[in-house]
Amino acid sequence: MAERIVIALGGNALQAKGRAPTAENQLEVVRRTAEQIAEVSRRGYEMAIVHGNGPQVGQILQAGEAARETVPPMPFDVCGAMSQGYIGYHIQQALRYALSVRGRNIPVVSLTTQVVVDRRDPAFGNPTKPIGSFYTAEEAQQLAQEKGYLMKEDAGRGWRRVVASPRPQKIVEIGSIRLLWDQTIVITCGGGGIPVAENADGTLEGIAAVIDKDYAAELLAEEVNADALLILTEVEKAAIRYNQPDQQDLDHLSLSEAARYVEEGHFGAGSMQPKIEAAMRFARNNPGRRAIITSLDKCLEALEGKTGTVVTFS
Ligand code: ADP
Ligand code: MG
Repeated sequence: MAERIVIALGGNALQAKGRAPTAENQLEVVRRTAEQIAEVSRRGYEMAIVHGNGPQVGQILQAGEAARETVPPMPFDVCGAMSQGYIGYHIQQALRYALSVRGRNIPVVSLTTQVVVDRRDPAFGNPTKPIGSFYTAEEAQQLAQEKGYLMKEDAGRGWRRVVASPRPQKIVEIGSIRLLWDQTIVITCGGGGIPVAENADGTLEGIAAVIDKDYAAELLAEEVNADALLILTEVEKAAIRYNQPDQQDLDHLSLSEAARYVEEGHFGAGSMQPKIEAAMRFARNNPGRRAIITSLDKCLEALEGKTGTVVTFS
């Protein structure tokens, strides 16, 4: 039977560093990404795709803020939905083509996805994710008063709004994802999903927060009973003593080894650590299955066990 995998795409799969973040430049990068993914599909893997959205949602937010005299700025959850829409559109278009030239006419569809967060998540007590434009101290104070935003000084560069990064609890559209799985490649939980909270009356409400796409991809992998969670980023392997002369790349991590390295602080807090923690959670809840962290261009080799950092239960 075909292996079922959830692929998480990092920033480098969507946007080129050092180039203007225009839609055209982004589509060019997405086309190259789609080639890799189509190759994975050609080898017979079944898949769903999760993507990041940090720079993209930041840009949408900033555009809204800059035009605030002309059109009302959209709230953050709506900006997240917009980013899922356009990134999903780019991937749909590029992947459809990359599959078709390989004789694979598999429908590709992106799903606007809401992900439930818990209002009591401790993250809400300590918002850490800066989003949108920089402001002066006076502007920041005004925004805090008028809109209730939490504003923080960002490394000497000015004041920015910060939001919480809560854990994903539930994928609202999971039923649709399961229905679509057998017939399509679904792009879902983009940017970690649009964070929503459940109200007592059963309604959902968009929340200004950022869910880490690595955690959302992990939750999705569990919910679709995936054989593997494949987290694609810039580096081929996670490392200990990263960027130091004695850096050591990691081939395989058991849960206990991974926990020890996390404890020792080897992984970047907002970058590699969420990947390792997502991989650990998948391995812990699915003994015998694997989570792989590797680079986009090594994804096939990594699936074949030839490279990447593989995290398993033991
Ligand atoms: P993505 O957009 O794929 O989520 P991130 O920038 O959030 O990418 O995380 C990947 C980055 O984490 C790598 O490019 C690397 O610079 C950084 N990083 C931090 N600590 C480590 C580590 N211990 N090993 C490897 N990479 C690390
Ligand atoms: Mg990241």
